[in-house]
Amino acid sequence: MSQSHQYLVIPGPVEVRPEILQAQTEWMIGHRSSEFAALFARLQTKLKQAFLTQYRVFLSGSSGTGLWEGASRNCIRDDRRVLHLVGGAFSERWAEISQANGKQTDVIEVAWGQAHTPEMVADALKKQAYDAVCAVHNETSTGVTHPIQEIGAVVRDYPETLFLVDTVSGFLGTELRTDDWGIDVALTSSQKAFALPPGLAFAAVSDRAMERAKQVPHRGYYFDFWALEESLVKNNTHNTPPVSLMFAADKQLDDILAEGLENRWQRHQAMKDTTHAWALSREFGLFAQAGYRSNTVTTVDNREMKLDVGAMAKFMAGRGFSMDQGYGQIKGKTFRIAHMGDMQPATLQQVLDGLDAFMQA
Ligand SMILES: *Cc1c(COP(=O)(O)O)cnc(C)c1O
Repeated sequence: MSQSHQYLVIPGPVEVRPEILQAQTEWMIGHRSSEFAALFARLQTKLKQAFLTQYRVFLSGSSGTGLWEGASRNCIRDDRRVLHLVGGAFSERWAEISQANGKQTDVIEVAWGQAHTPEMVADALKKQAYDAVCAVHNETSTGVTHPIQEIGAVVRDYPETLFLVDTVSGFLGTELRTDDWGIDVALTSSQKAFALPPGLAFAAVSDRAMERAKQVPHRGYYFDFWALEESLVKNNTHNTPPVSLMFAADKQLDDILAEGLENRWQRHQAMKDTTHAWALSREFGLFAQAGYRSNTVTTVDNREMKLDVGAMAKFMAGRGFSMDQGYGQIKGKTFRIAHMGDMQPATLQQVLDGLDAFMQA
């Protein structure tokens, strides 16, 4: 590998361990071979454990955005409405995707940094019937984790309404219980807290969502849940999958399940606590609303401009760390410290020490 290595402290793609990168260099196999079917089956078993679901986990050779489109296309009928919970760049984009697919879209919008409440969703569902509620678990642009469990409980009172959740930067970094929380589609990408290279996306999909898809005549092709299902039951994919990434996922899931989901969530929480304590003791604010701050990414409030974020990133690059400089409308006014994936507390400490050195320089 090349000499220059910057450890990624950005919230995706995140650092991938060398042994996981190495797993991608296995000899190629054909995706209609029995070896591939065995690989697919192994992945399916482990993914169901990771999502805490009894149903199925689709795997797609795309980034998470593809499965946003898939979820919207398969789960919302054209003559019904969908409710999107919007409060940051990613939740906003998913609503745009539903619209781009011709779905009749309503939004509940909260200010960036704020969380949606179950009450807001309960009020909306009382007034209007929806085919689906779409929520982002962990809004990466703001560092807010939304109360998905509580919102799911509200949605469950409406049998016609599916609950679709983007857990791209929450999954495997913070608690997510797909079935117990009444989630019909939980979708994620490989390159966030999963700590794989980008290029693979995953969606745990309930039987209820599959039944809904039957009522949608034009589900598209690439992300058609029934086409994916037809192949999945044969331990296969309906087109050529990114086999090398699947080798990496196979090993990564072994390591994740060996660590244990709850231990992994706890490690993330401990790193969040360390990051918060650092930020507050250096007289920074925290951008996300108290009580809803993410375990995987901390958005440091820099609105008083204590820190020149561009200069900080340059300084940190000199120490081998690639830093975030804020996202969208809050770029520079905030910066994010990602503490997700396979990052260990000792590495996080080096990052915080580096930031201290920058501020003392
Ligand atoms: C990164 C991210 C996405 C986009 O995922 P891609 O894999 O880049 O398509 C969607 N939602 C959230 C919350 C994200 O953090």
